[in-house]
Amino acid sequence: MTSKEKEAVQIQHSPKTENEILVHAKNIKKYFPIKGGILKRTIGHLKAVDDISFQIYKGETLGIVGESGSGKSTLGRVLLRLLDPTDGKIVFNGIDISNMGNRGIRPHRKDMQIIFQDPFASLNSKMSVEELIEEPLLIQQNLPKEERKRKVTDMLEKVGLRASDRLKYPHEFSGGQRQRISIARALIMEPKFVICDEPVSALDVSIQSQVLNLMKDLQDDFDLTYLFIAHDLSVIKHISDRVAVMYLGRFAELASKETIYKKPLHPYTQALLSAIPIIDVDDTKKEREKIILKGDLPNPADPPSGCAFRTRCPHAHDRCAIDRPVLQEVEKDHFVACHLYT
Ligand code: SF4
Repeated sequence: MTSKEKEAVQIQHSPKTENEILVHAKNIKKYFPIKGGILKRTIGHLKAVDDISFQIYKGETLGIVGESGSGKSTLGRVLLRLLDPTDGKIVFNGIDISNMGNRGIRPHRKDMQIIFQDPFASLNSKMSVEELIEEPLLIQQNLPKEERKRKVTDMLEKVGLRASDRLKYPHEFSGGQRQRISIARALIMEPKFVICDEPVSALDVSIQSQVLNLMKDLQDDFDLTYLFIAHDLSVIKHISDRVAVMYLGRFAELASKETIYKKPLHPYTQALLSAIPIIDVDDTKKEREKIILKGDLPNPADPPSGCAFRTRCPHAHDRCAIDRPVLQEVEKDHFVACHLYT
């Protein structure tokens, strides 16, 4: 059995039924060509997402954590079909959307939204709050004007803004309030699935938890499923049900939040977590032994052979340079890609 087949089999061990799965990603790849020479020929590929399979369950928040350049944002955009996958299959709500053209994907767009990191850059500064939130309704639905206005007002109140704010412009708001406007715009179509791409990393720490709590409340109100992308493990811990740790285009580990934070198995996850204190049941902080990783993230255009983490891993051994470890279920619902467990 090839490593790709092994990984597909391992992932199918999940106990969820098809009805409980909103997004099923199968062997997703996204390669970007690297051009070189006078003729700008393709001389290689940057493997931003390299053969990843996983599922997102209805109503859950799957957190994806990894360093800048790990491929997490690219993965999010491929799932929404904002980028075309190089290979693999994306099944959304039971429908294969991997190869749909613009016309085919359009009816599904309202069910899949994205919230970006920088609300100032993602909101058109020339549009009023009302116009910004109303715009998706104009594109997707043929609603009477009064009904649109009512929906916008309701949504503003749901995200903690006032109805009178609808006539203001983005620059009149703080960063946290602008992110609330972005959230309102993403939710106005009542989507099923929202990708949150570092939505609080540009905000002050004091505002971050307010926005995260709002997102949790809205998840319950609107029955939402989130894919939450962040580099900050504390943020991921606050909001996620399950966590995937990503390194150079692949998942290193995938498990429930409790398992990942209490019993990380992959050396990369252990190193990431060693930087944050453990809060015990009696609310006392305990320091973990800090694991300092050697070097920086390798160039994704020229990743190490075998295990991509081997150049920084304190446990690397001969096999790690030869065999690429596959993501395998090492205990119930706990998936790890590391030769220490095989
Ligand atoms: Fe480290 Fe080897 Fe495991 Fe990779 S496979 S994480 S190099 S021990």
